Amino acid sequence: MHFTLGISSISENTCERKLYIYIISRLMKRFLQEEAPNIYMRIGKIIHTLLPITFKKLFPYIEYYYYRLKKSLEESIGLAFKFVLDYWIFLLKTQINFNILEKSEYAEVMDNINVQLPILIEHAKSLIDVNNDNLINSVIDDEFNVSYEILPGVLLTGKIDLVCFSQEINEFLFIELKTGRPSPTKHNRQLRLYKELFDEKQEKDINLELWNTKPGSPQSGFQKIKKLRKYKDSELNKLKIKIRKAIKCKNVEDLPPTIYFPGSERICFFCDYCDHSKVIFN
Ligand code: SF4
Repeated sequence: MHFTLGISSISENTCERKLYIYIISRLMKRFLQEEAPNIYMRIGKIIHTLLPITFKKLFPYIEYYYYRLKKSLEESIGLAFKFVLDYWIFLLKTQINFNILEKSEYAEVMDNINVQLPILIEHAKSLIDVNNDNLINSVIDDEFNVSYEILPGVLLTGKIDLVCFSQEINEFLFIELKTGRPSPTKHNRQLRLYKELFDEKQEKDINLELWNTKPGSPQSGFQKIKKLRKYKDSELNKLKIKIRKAIKCKNVEDLPPTIYFPGSERICFFCDYCDHSKVIFN
């Protein structure tokens, strides 16, 4: 038995049946079709590149604007982001010329980015310590690849959006950046899994933050930065139990039941895993 499970996919919390079907599809090497790229994926991709590229490659520009041109920290970050954004604008305009992208889609992408940019700048500020005559950048890496053998032959794989280290408090910080509608339980689980994979291997504390750049009311779950608290149960242990159960399923009848609760039809509307299950077991 050798197969991999994507941490973001197994963190889905909406339906246990969906989780089992995903695990079995990986076990049987019958991969489910990936979602076609849409406009929101484009927005997410662009926003996900702005902060890491700027902080890893263009940090001297932030220092230049801040110290030489006496701009505020927000303005300095915003001006440095603009270099990366200009590159994306060039690419998107090229896609319009090749008829890969509609002008209206371009306008929608840019409108969304312009709304989310100030929030990203506000978040990014928290990753810089202004210390005497230095700006200290706490970003160590982005898209940090994680791979962990949760059961013999079963690998968990994922990418941590941002890994930071604060010299001031001598602690790591893992950040998951989201640009769409919040799905807190799923994203919390994803971050907790990353932390548990590293906890055994090193002594420093790891803090977890879920960032969202899409504006929205807190009542609808939109929180700009959510710091995750300590928790008791191990997500890894719970996942191990579920994987063991899933790989014992030999036909559709062994799967957990379909979900039936008010509002579940909305979740099933965006999911075709029940249809795939028949193909997987054939
Ligand atoms: S279609 Fe509904 S019941 Fe079936 S796996 Fe998806 S979410 Fe679960």
